[in-house]
Amino acid sequence: MTAPLLELKGLAKRFGGLVAVNDLSFDVHAGEVVGLLGPNGSGKTTAMNLVSGALPLNAGEVRFQGKTISGLASHQIARLGVARTFQLVRVLGGMNCRDNVAAGLAFRPGGLHGRAAEHAAQLLLERVGLGAQAELAASELTYIDQKRLELARALALAPQLLLLDEWLAGLNPTELQQGIDLIRALQGEGMTILMVEHVMDAVHALCSRCVVMNTGAKIADGATREVLSDPRVIEAYLGS
Ligand code: ADP
Repeated sequence: MTAPLLELKGLAKRFGGLVAVNDLSFDVHAGEVVGLLGPNGSGKTTAMNLVSGALPLNAGEVRFQGKTISGLASHQIARLGVARTFQLVRVLGGMNCRDNVAAGLAFRPGGLHGRAAEHAAQLLLERVGLGAQAELAASELTYIDQKRLELARALALAPQLLLLDEWLAGLNPTELQQGIDLIRALQGEGMTILMVEHVMDAVHALCSRCVVMNTGAKIADGATREVLSDPRVIEAYLGS
């Protein structure tokens, strides 16, 4: 087996007296799509924030491509190839869609600028189904389209690893299927993805493996079908 792309080793995060993440360890291998599951408040978003550098850790280590990334600033981690979307969409509302994506392209290693960035931004917008909206201000987009734009901005970094935080939440059934198809296409291109997701149809459709958290700790890690029938996992969800 090759070395993992991402390694979480004994991560801990406290907010005052609250232990939000407690001795969390798991690996993600290149090409995997791994679901990070658990009831509300179990520490999933905090774990994503520890990986992306949005929050400092109290203990443990995050390794990416064999190198320690915990302790680096979030923009440094992004440049190393870890891109993320947020639970609450964070596009630049006043800017049009093409410029939103071009901003991401300028930031990536060997950044693209000017015409090259505009061209690449248009291709990325088409990739996520927003080709016709390139000139629209991000704030004028519907919710699903803002999510698409955020994904295009993440892809603009040419990441090795994509962190998706409830990217499929709040979509109607048609949009959900489109979202699943889009993530599956990325998966088919070899993208490695770690996704926090509550939509179980999406988890079944996309994730070969799941890690389940409860009250900050990992309670299951394995093949999706087995994990979701694990009595401890069912109990954690029913108890929440
Ligand atoms: P999940 O993503 O699984 O819903 P979170 O990681 O958002 O869980 O939260 C885990 C726990 O940490 C919760 O009890 C939450 O209230 C708490 N928490 C998260 N962020 C903060 C913060 N910035 N300050 C204080 N407590 C927080």
